[in-house]
Amino acid sequence: MSTIKQSPYVIVGAGIHGLSTAYHLAQALKSSGKGSGKDIVVIDKTEIGAGASGIACGVIRNNYFQPAMRELMAHSVAVWETDPDAFSYHPVGYMQISCESMHEDVASIYAQQKAIGYDSVFIEGRKDCKDYMVNIFHDWQAQRITSVLHEKSGGYANNKKSLQGLASKAKAEGVRIIGGVTVTGFSRDNKGAIKSVETDRGNIDCDYIVVAPGPWAKQLWHMLEMPSTVSIKNPGTGTISHDIPMWVYWSLQEGTLGVDPNLQQTNEGKMPPVIHVDTDAPLYSDIDGSLLSDKMWGIYYKPDFNFGGIQGGAAPFIIDKKADLVAVDPYGPESPEFIVGNDFSTMWVSALAHCQKRFSGTMAQYKNGPSGGIGAFTPDSFPVFDVFHGNCYMIADSNHGYKMIGVGKLVAEDICGQSSSLLDPFRFSRYAQGKLHPVSNSPFPWS
Ligand SMILES: Cc1cc2nc3c(=O)[nH]c(=O)nc-3n(C[C@H](O)[C@H](O)[C@H](O)COP(=O)(O)OP(=O)(O)OC[C@H]3O[C@@H](n4cnc5c(N)ncnc54)[C@H](O)[C@@H]3O)c2cc1C
Repeated sequence: MSTIKQSPYVIVGAGIHGLSTAYHLAQALKSSGKGSGKDIVVIDKTEIGAGASGIACGVIRNNYFQPAMRELMAHSVAVWETDPDAFSYHPVGYMQISCESMHEDVASIYAQQKAIGYDSVFIEGRKDCKDYMVNIFHDWQAQRITSVLHEKSGGYANNKKSLQGLASKAKAEGVRIIGGVTVTGFSRDNKGAIKSVETDRGNIDCDYIVVAPGPWAKQLWHMLEMPSTVSIKNPGTGTISHDIPMWVYWSLQEGTLGVDPNLQQTNEGKMPPVIHVDTDAPLYSDIDGSLLSDKMWGIYYKPDFNFGGIQGGAAPFIIDKKADLVAVDPYGPESPEFIVGNDFSTMWVSALAHCQKRFSGTMAQYKNGPSGGIGAFTPDSFPVFDVFHGNCYMIADSNHGYKMIGVGKLVAEDICGQSSSLLDPFRFSRYAQGKLHPVSNSPFPWS
C-alpha cells in the first residue's frame, strides 16, 4: 500500500522539471493563498535524479535558432541565477563556434539575443574568429570557423547537486518527495479528469497532476491514453502528414577525458566558457592520422571537477527502432545497449585535439566507464508543455531540458492561474495547426 492515499497535487518524476515545478508550485500556492508545499507530493519510481537530469552534462545556454526556445532559455537562465550556490551553477558563459553553413543562422540568433537583451558577442570572418579564440586559448586551432557567438551568461551546473539543491528548497516549503513508487496508470472521472494516480503501492487520489517523465514520456503518454501517432500540418503547403509517431528515441553520446580540469584554463588562468564547435573541416584521428569524417561534425566540452576531467559530447543519433521496442530501463550508464563505445571516444578526443593542441596525445586518458543515455523526442524535436484531461500538466521536454529549470516555474504559475505566453508555442495543438518551430542547419536536433 502507498504511504499516501490523497494529495491535492501529485507530481510524477523527481528530475529537474518535477522538482522545479514542486518548489515553484509551493511558492505560488503560498503567495496566492491557495495552499502550501504540504499540498504537494512528488513521487518517483526510483529516487531524485534517477533519470536524464541525473546524468546530464549540465550545459546551460541560450543559443537556439527558434525564437520561442531562446526566450524560454533566457527565462531559465534567470532562474539559475537566483541561487547559484544551491543550484551548483557555474556562470562561465557559452560559445557557439561554427563553420560557414551555420553563419547566417547564428547571426540571426545573435540579432535576436540583442533584441531580448541577452548578453552576447558575435565575431565574424575566419581571421577575426581565430584572433578572438587565440586570445582566450593560446592553442586554438579549429579549422574553417567563420563565426563565434560568445554568450556571456549561462555555463553549466552539476547535475545531481543541483537536483539536491532544488529538492531541499522544495522540502523546506513542506513538499514531500517519495522514491520507490511506480506509477502504473490513472483513473479518470466521468468527465475524463484524472481522479487518482495508480501506483505499485496503491492509489493516490488527487485534484491535479503534473507528469514530468523525461525519457519515460512514451510510457506515461500511453497511460494517459494519448495518441501514439499525430497528424502534422505543413505550415508552407497546408498539406497534412498523418500517422507520424509521437515518440522517437535518440541516443546521446557523452564522455569524459580524465585529465586535470585545470588543463582547460584560459590564457588568464580562469575557468573557461563551455565550448561548442560545429564544423565541416575534415576530422583526422589523433591516434593514427586516418580520416574520421569529411562531413559536418560537432562537439561540446567543458572542464568539470564533478566528472573529474574534460566532459562533453558529440551529436546524438536516432535509435532505429519503434519507440515501443526501445528499452528505457535500465537507464543511462546502466543500460547494456545505449552507452558510448570506442567510435565515440576516438571521434570526440580527436575533435578536441582538432580544436585545441593541448588535447593532442591524451587519448589514453579517456575514461572508459559506461556513459551516455537516451532521450524521448517529439515529432518536431521540441517540447510539449500542455494540459490534458483538464487537470494533468505534461512536461515533455524532448530532451532539451536540464537547462530549462524555469519551465517548472511557468507551469506552477499557469496552474495557479497566471499563464505565460512563453509556454504557448509548445502546446500539443501546434502539430494539427502547423504552428511549427523553424529548423536550423545545426547537426544537433536541439539547436
Ligand atoms: C546524456 C545526456 C546529457 C544531457 N545533457 C544535457 C545538457 O547538458 N543540458 C541540457 O539542458 N539537457 C541535457 N540533457 C537533457 C536533459 O537531461 C533532459 O531533457 C532533462 O533532464 C529531463 O528532465 P525531466 O525532469 O523531464 O526527466 P528526468 O530527469 O528523466 O526525470 C524523470 C523521472 O521520472 C521518473 N519516472 C519515470 N517513469 C515513472 C513512473 N512510471 N513512475 C514514477 N516515476 C517515474 C524517473 O525515475 C525519473 O527520475 C541531457 C540528456 C542526456 C541523456
